[in-house]
Amino acid sequence: MNQNYTPLRACPVCNNRSGNILGKLTYALFDDLDIPGTKSLIRCSECKMIYDDVTFTEKQLQEYYRRNEHYAASSLGGSGSLSDDNRNRYDRIIDILQPDAGGTILDVGCGQGGFVAQCRVQGFRAAGIEPSEKSRNAGRATGLDIYASVSEYAAKQPEATIGTVVISHVLEHLLEPQKMMKELINNAPEALVYIEVPDAASYLSPDAMRWQELYFEHLNYFCKENFTNFAAQSCIEVIRAESTPFSKNLTNIQCLFLVGQFRCNTEIPVKKPGTVTVPQFTLPPLPDGGLPHDHRPIALWGVSQYAMLLMGSLPQLKRVNRLFDASPAKIGRKIRGVTIEDAREIRTLSKKTRLVLPYSQYSLQMLKELDESGSFTGEIVHIH
Ligand SMILES: [Zn+2]
Repeated sequence: MNQNYTPLRACPVCNNRSGNILGKLTYALFDDLDIPGTKSLIRCSECKMIYDDVTFTEKQLQEYYRRNEHYAASSLGGSGSLSDDNRNRYDRIIDILQPDAGGTILDVGCGQGGFVAQCRVQGFRAAGIEPSEKSRNAGRATGLDIYASVSEYAAKQPEATIGTVVISHVLEHLLEPQKMMKELINNAPEALVYIEVPDAASYLSPDAMRWQELYFEHLNYFCKENFTNFAAQSCIEVIRAESTPFSKNLTNIQCLFLVGQFRCNTEIPVKKPGTVTVPQFTLPPLPDGGLPHDHRPIALWGVSQYAMLLMGSLPQLKRVNRLFDASPAKIGRKIRGVTIEDAREIRTLSKKTRLVLPYSQYSLQMLKELDESGSFTGEIVHIH
């Protein structure tokens, strides 16, 4: 690959439209989603940012999130829930920020509003922005101030001063992250800013790919240099920029964060990076766990985004005819016409079926359960 290429989508950092293709990623998405599952991973030839070129529109992406609302019911990392692990993360962010108690803390992309709640526990005024209706309602039901958009917040709270803006694990999901930054700077021109994103250098590496962290929903792959560059383009004067593990329970997920200040009237120099942490490379082939190309029936347990990537890419998995998951948000939905069943149904599989388990933080536990329950005695293929 690596050929010169004119992407449909402009670079989310420098707005340039020319790059090299590092590879293609194809996901077998739920049949009820009207969005193409293939993206091209490209590197901008101007600023070296790595991002996805996609053929879907902002409207299709919004519809994707509307239909895929597992964040509203989940207690996992990105959901904005009040699990102990998340609460620890929120305290870490508040500690680093030292927000000014005079203004409101605005959490953009707040999910169920866990961070907003924790700010209040610590005595701060806080509100959230969340485009997903289900997540928003989950947060509102607990008495939090959550709005669909920054403009809705500004219209309903014209007197409020936004002192601090928090944008944690949001930028990597957006087709036009700079557009959102502009809207924020217009509404909070001098605010303190906290931004956190996954560190692309930790999972995009030619010889140590962490495929399970290549989510369909992540469209921008920031490494240290592009991240500071993005901040400068967004008129943020950086006070502190470091890396951190996502949380105490998820120490293997590395993130970048920065604390800065919006400076709408000051020219902040944008430095074009000479070298970046993630080198120029071609996406290596996906792991297949040694899965043979034969005609034995194949079932898959754990319908994660990684599983969807494997199903979309590995020829051996074209024939998967049973799918299992534990999440009520997934059971009953279909991929390539195969309905996702409750994981308890694994016991109904024939012994000659191969059961594929794509790697996840739960897969060792899942293997242990299978072994202890004796509900499946056929061959298990664990794909890392
Ligand atoms: Zn660029």
